[in-house]
Amino acid sequence: MALIRRARLGDGGPLCDLFFRSVNVLGAGDYSPDQLAAWTSRINPERLERRLLSTVAFVAEENGRPVGFGSLDPAHGELDFLYVHPESAGRGLGRQLAEAIEAEAALRGFSEVHLTASLNAVSIYERLGYGQLERFSKTIDRVEVPCVRMSKRLHRERNVHGTLVRGLAVGSKTECAHYHSQLDVIAIRFKCCGEFYPCYQCHTAVSDHPAVRWGKDDLDAEAILCGACGTRLSIRAYLDCASRCPACAASFNPGCANHHTLYFSSK
Ligand SMILES: [Zn+2]
Ligand SMILES: [Zn+2]
Ligand SMILES: [Zn+2]
Repeated sequence: MALIRRARLGDGGPLCDLFFRSVNVLGAGDYSPDQLAAWTSRINPERLERRLLSTVAFVAEENGRPVGFGSLDPAHGELDFLYVHPESAGRGLGRQLAEAIEAEAALRGFSEVHLTASLNAVSIYERLGYGQLERFSKTIDRVEVPCVRMSKRLHRERNVHGTLVRGLAVGSKTECAHYHSQLDVIAIRFKCCGEFYPCYQCHTAVSDHPAVRWGKDDLDAEAILCGACGTRLSIRAYLDCASRCPACAASFNPGCANHHTLYFSSK
């Protein structure tokens, strides 16, 4: 897993280099040299840095070196850039960056993310849950560059293995805008409303009432949903499971234990 951080001053040079390599190597199968030249003609280190710092931009780093970057235009819910170094392609970096961008969009109130994909990236975005809207051509320096408009819905409620889960950008395994690692695969039912949410912040964002915690007499309530298999666990079974689903053995985020007091009261 790469480290994802926000873009900062001084990123323009290395990220511009990464951009050129990514476009020229990964785009070479679908575009002519003229088209690749047109695509990259408006980008230089200064412009790229200015654009990234004026949006919400993330950099993926491995061993202290940038291996990918992506950005959200926060005014329009548009995924603006997403590029991965060709030597690091196919290792899930694009997914990690896209999830950071989608989470940011959901936190800012967007229910969809839009983007313009290069032809070589369409199947990648489809695997990330984006659907094609239309194929069109951008004209850059009198060169036609075909691309595809795509969008993805950020679910504010989602059926996960038969259970309705509400929240921000709810994923197929109950990931959310706040917690979206591979281990963030549980949702909790809240005592106040009986509804399942991936996390406390999702309840705050989407429900219309303050959260009520479960108490010590509620340990047998089936309040935990495993997003990996759909099994509902009692609070007792969850607290005793050592961060592993008793039904499917999926690993749960052990960090959730730090937040137990948000959900469970000892009274
Ligand atoms: Zn509630
Ligand atoms: Zn959440
Ligand atoms: Zn499970």
